[in-house]
Amino acid sequence: MQSGRKPAVRIIREGAELDECSRDSGLLTLKPRAVYVASTAAEVVQALADASQSGLVLTARGSGTGIPTMSVGTGIVLTQDPGGIEPSPGRVRVSPGVVKQTLDEALDRSGSWMPVSPSSYRSCSVGGMVSTNASGARTLLYRSTIDYVESLSVVLPEEGEKEVTRVPLEEALSDYGSTGRVARLLVENGGRIAREAPKVTKNSCGYRLERAIHDGFLDLPKLFCGSEGTLGVITRVVFRTVAKPARRAMLVFECAFDDLDRLVAALRARSPSAIELVDKSIFAQTGREKDIAFLSRTELPYLIFFELDGSGERVSQKVLDLAADPGLAGLDPLVIMDEGRLEDAWRVRSDALVVAGEIKKGDKVAVPGVEDVVVPPDMLGSLVKLLSEVFESKGLEFISYGHAGDANLHMRPLLDPTSRAGRRLLDDVMEDSFKGVWKMGGSITGEHGDGRLRAPYVKRQYRETYELMREIKQIYDPRGLLNRGVKIAEETG
Ligand SMILES: Cc1cc2nc3c(=O)[nH]c(=O)nc-3n(C[C@H](O)[C@H](O)[C@H](O)COP(=O)(O)OP(=O)(O)OC[C@H]3O[C@@H](n4cnc5c(N)ncnc54)[C@H](O)[C@@H]3O)c2cc1C
Repeated sequence: MQSGRKPAVRIIREGAELDECSRDSGLLTLKPRAVYVASTAAEVVQALADASQSGLVLTARGSGTGIPTMSVGTGIVLTQDPGGIEPSPGRVRVSPGVVKQTLDEALDRSGSWMPVSPSSYRSCSVGGMVSTNASGARTLLYRSTIDYVESLSVVLPEEGEKEVTRVPLEEALSDYGSTGRVARLLVENGGRIAREAPKVTKNSCGYRLERAIHDGFLDLPKLFCGSEGTLGVITRVVFRTVAKPARRAMLVFECAFDDLDRLVAALRARSPSAIELVDKSIFAQTGREKDIAFLSRTELPYLIFFELDGSGERVSQKVLDLAADPGLAGLDPLVIMDEGRLEDAWRVRSDALVVAGEIKKGDKVAVPGVEDVVVPPDMLGSLVKLLSEVFESKGLEFISYGHAGDANLHMRPLLDPTSRAGRRLLDDVMEDSFKGVWKMGGSITGEHGDGRLRAPYVKRQYRETYELMREIKQIYDPRGLLNRGVKIAEETG
């Protein structure tokens, strides 16, 4: 590693911070050679130069809440100081290290909102959200991070610091640099790209090629969104913001598997902000039934959270009308209007993964792998059936929760990921589940991304367009300096 000059960037080579950056929320621990903490774009440029000169791979890192092993690496792990937030009407400029909750609090003062809110909003960073194309409970109405990214500042391995913005397609096509090469690749392969895009409401698998050209523009920020630190290091984000709704109200249903499709289809027709699912057994297995006692009044297995938002009394009235709807007769939902109670209900939903993390049966824990599959929204029941049958065929217990309205489920089998047998079982579960998901026209990840864990499957999801993704990686990062092995699998043999 380079020495002899005193770098401005803070470099850590041992101790607790290095250990902390060896882990994210995935299965693998990878110890980096060094952790760099940058506070300016120039320091990010310097970190990349050091990586290049030392022959090390650089992994950008936000808060390390990424699930499929994506913000750890054996070379340089680069984090950025939180930096600032500059709101203006309709948009906000924000540093990538800012935590989403901090951004929410800053925007709240002006009544505006960047409405994508992952359950991890209290700790995840804005840079991590952009890089995974994170979503959350309210995707049904507000969609995903990709829908709010207006422009980015990035540091590219071959080009240094660069503003990435939407440009007229004609202008992009006549460019001689990376922008022109990417534009031509996308235009020449437009048919294949459109054909292969999964028919789902959210997707974080591969690069989002189908979103990069629209309305006569090349929208490069959409290509970088969800790229998991493999194309460039983001140093500044500009998000579009919207007015925050003044009111919201909720219905909580309890239902059996057989009622899922009917209930969710009926609820989707009401323009909800969210339809979420939690399997009560997560709380039962951890002895935390009391946490959901205020919502759970029957022995039925699933809680379904339905939220409407908007302005004025009409929100409450619509929710009351729906609760009395004869089409939902017999489901007797709990009506929640009080803000404090709403927060309590949302806490149950967003704590589901944290509580699931406490489940331990011998060496078995709830592992990621198929924890984020997504299929067309009217196939929710088929997805639950597919995954349940895969787990049961291998004798595995499992937990379930997720975004029912998008048919994006976070189901996890319980197994020992540290044993060879456990790893083999996980591979089998991923193979069988992904094959079923692809048959339904779905995607292997709706919001968490590919990471190292799912990288080998990206090629199989995009049989016709994976080579284009490799070419794009090659255009921006020809020497493989950035997050190698994440998203784009390293070829073996
Ligand atoms: C309890 C829990 C709940 C979760 N709930 C949700 C949810 O509801 N919705 C959802 O979408 N996800 C969820 N996640 C996953 C995770 O929180 C999100 O993917 C989040 O956006 C990651 O942010 P981070 O700051 O932790 O990123 P990290 O984990 O640090 O990094 C994630 C990826 O982004 C890249 N990256 C980070 N910063 C930069 C940068 N500046 N430039 C380039 N690349 C960068 C990294 O290299 C990595 O590939 C959850 C995770 C946990 C543990």
